Amino acid sequence: NREVDHASAEGLLQMAAEGETETVVPDYTGLGSYRASGGYRLLERVRSGEVSVDTLIETMQSAGLRGLGGAGFPAGRKWSIVRSYPGPRLMSINGDEGEPGTFKDRIYLERDPHRTFEGALVAAHAVEAERIYFYMRDEYPAVLQILRTEIAALEAAGLAAPGFIELRRGAGAYICGEESAMLESIEGKRGLPRHRPPYIAEAGLFGRPTLNHNVETLWWVRDIVEQGPEWFAKKGRPDHPGVRSWSVSGRVREPGVKLAPAGVTVRELIDDYCGGMAEGHEFKAYLPGGASGGILPSSMGDIPLDFGGELARQGAFVGSHAIVIFSQVDSVKDVTLNLLNFFKHESCGQCTPCREGTEKMVTLLKTQDKFDEATVRDLEMVMRDASICGLGQAAPNPVNHLLTHFREDL
Ligand code: SF4
Repeated sequence: NREVDHASAEGLLQMAAEGETETVVPDYTGLGSYRASGGYRLLERVRSGEVSVDTLIETMQSAGLRGLGGAGFPAGRKWSIVRSYPGPRLMSINGDEGEPGTFKDRIYLERDPHRTFEGALVAAHAVEAERIYFYMRDEYPAVLQILRTEIAALEAAGLAAPGFIELRRGAGAYICGEESAMLESIEGKRGLPRHRPPYIAEAGLFGRPTLNHNVETLWWVRDIVEQGPEWFAKKGRPDHPGVRSWSVSGRVREPGVKLAPAGVTVRELIDDYCGGMAEGHEFKAYLPGGASGGILPSSMGDIPLDFGGELARQGAFVGSHAIVIFSQVDSVKDVTLNLLNFFKHESCGQCTPCREGTEKMVTLLKTQDKFDEATVRDLEMVMRDASICGLGQAAPNPVNHLLTHFREDL
């Protein structure tokens, strides 16, 4: 039994008290059907040397594939950096998908898990990883069941050596989606983000050079190599190569995962991909990147959505591409408080600016009659400058935007 259960005793007792609910596994493409449609031929070509590691890395780089878990680091560059450190090396797959509003990885794994597996095995070959740790959130029981079944199928088919892909269950901590905290969790410790440097490419899992990828990033590897980097790059807009999976939710007519170019605008996502705003709702504001990416007004609905660029100049980011749409019935102050309460709850507590800052920020915003903007701005700066990881650094984003763009909601 290679699966490590991180569920808390309290959670287990509660589950026992409530009675386990049956997991419904959706129809998905299993190993047989995946192979019948040409699956794992790329892996065979890679392993036989027909496609060299240099070609793989060049292909990833010219396709412009970026890490789609939130950070957006170019995938090909990551492979070559990890390779530059002496082995033995390891690999991890981040399936924690904890960013509020993000649900694309779940869709991919519930429909076509082997595309991610093949991407992972190709990437593992490229960096000569000795083992892959697949970290999967426990809140996706159907996905866990699929992964267990299909890892066994891969082993039986001789495509992965027994134990080469090790499944680990997360226990619902948002911070364990942060890569270094995830590695701590895989190592069996509390999920506390690490100080950097060293970066995990140099010293990651068990102190070894580690390649970490999000589920969707790996999902694209096969198509990019088989169909060519231009095929992928051309799906984007000028200066924004590639296609992205946008998790769109909120006040739209047809929420869901939408495949749209990198650099698409939120207005296009609403009108062209989601059937417009929901009945009776007018577009007022949006989260461009889940809980962490800030809140922008509809007047900024024509900004190209991608890593960096105009979005970054507005103090926002696209992260894991979770777009949440608000309308005239939503108070941005309430949204901000909701997000801050989330950060307060999910702060790992390791550093003072985040642990105390998120709590104080909630208190400051709640005390309407004593609202002190200078103190809020001060606290915002301290949290950004002195927090160890992205949670504490990004937590003030919605507050900044509330004060800058939505003063009427105060
Ligand atoms: Fe933990 Fe927050 Fe500090 Fe990150 S910023 S290490 S979540 S306390």
